Amino acid sequence: MSVASTVPASIDLAALRERFPALRQQVHGRPLVYLDNAATTQRPDVVIRATVDFYEKDNANVHRGVHTLSQRATRDFEEARQTVRAFVDAAHDAEILFTKGCTEAINLVAATWGRTMLREGDEILLSTMEHHANIVPWQLVAEMTGATIRPIPIDDRGQIDLSAYGSMLTERVKLVGIVHVSNSIGTINPVAEITAMAHRVGARVMIDGAQALAHQKVSVRDLDVDFYAMSGHKVYGPTGIGALYGKRDLLEAMPPYQAGGDMIRTVTFEKTTFNDLPNRFEPGTPNIAGAIGWAAALNFVDRMGIDAIGRHEQTLTRYAQHRLSEIDGLRLVGTADDKAGIVAFSLEGIHPHDIGTVLDRNGVAIRAGHHCTMPLMQRFGLPATVRASFAMYTSEAEIDALVAAVQQAKEILG
Ligand code: PLP
Repeated sequence: MSVASTVPASIDLAALRERFPALRQQVHGRPLVYLDNAATTQRPDVVIRATVDFYEKDNANVHRGVHTLSQRATRDFEEARQTVRAFVDAAHDAEILFTKGCTEAINLVAATWGRTMLREGDEILLSTMEHHANIVPWQLVAEMTGATIRPIPIDDRGQIDLSAYGSMLTERVKLVGIVHVSNSIGTINPVAEITAMAHRVGARVMIDGAQALAHQKVSVRDLDVDFYAMSGHKVYGPTGIGALYGKRDLLEAMPPYQAGGDMIRTVTFEKTTFNDLPNRFEPGTPNIAGAIGWAAALNFVDRMGIDAIGRHEQTLTRYAQHRLSEIDGLRLVGTADDKAGIVAFSLEGIHPHDIGTVLDRNGVAIRAGHHCTMPLMQRFGLPATVRASFAMYTSEAEIDALVAAVQQAKEILG
């Protein structure tokens, strides 16, 4: 497979792909074309090595031991927190709470901030393109508190209707929940503008950043968001690790989420006092190896340069949309002006799962389904789509392989 001609000089794609062991394999006798990066990215060698190194050399529990291994584990775990903080440009390490992923980060906010701050009559605004992870936790809280959820409409290209959003903003709105980059259609939402508008009516803003970190520079301070949820495995890190960024004053005012060891200062049967941030929200043994592996992934992205990665993926996205739109009967779903490396489509008369099966026989891994965004599928009048999602290591030749396999699927199934 030849290397893409459109790749900016700053990314040496052939050398880069060598760093990802899982890419060096065949599936059904064909070279693997991995285009399911929005579901999970592949891990570079440094991430795998950092995880193995931890278990081989430093494996111990954090924060509790005085012995050398525990001190090393604690140092590396806390350095990982600093790496995440620097990566998203937060002001304080204490504003980064490790969670098991983006889903848990949003649940933490809904269950603590949501349950204490929301009342009957309050409104929660969520965009129509939210992942279920930024819908269902708010539904649970709405049921408990009497708050109501109102969907923010999107246009036919998959962009938030900012004027409709503006007219929905009243003092009743207490929370606005927005996905930074849509996992289904790749739209990059104007988070800074949406946040500034929400703040004018005193609402807090919860951003689902699962898909954003791998594709563009994120500064939680510049965006001025209140909460930002992150996922390790979407940005070349391990599964089972993620983080919540929250503004310090908000986190300090929130009650604990889960309770147990490490999150307390003193415990008697009469009364417990709680630890400071961030430990207050991290009870029990955390995913130490996961945090250390994630930090290795973020350092790897930093060395590659997030701007170069973003440019590369946007070039591929334009190329893929152009090539796919030449296929008769193919409908692109989500054609926003500002898009990250995600292309979704449907083919007239053919079920996306059947397309996915033919593609797999050609070694092409994509995702077919509703992508955990059922309200978005309803908005476009589709039960499901085929989604190809790109990463720093994706080549133009892989897009050509995708297009050829889709054409074959059309001939076989059409
Ligand atoms: N939000 C979005 C936009 C996602 O794409 C995903 C994963 O598919 C999630 C949330 C859930 O993330 P995690 O797997 O880290 O819980």
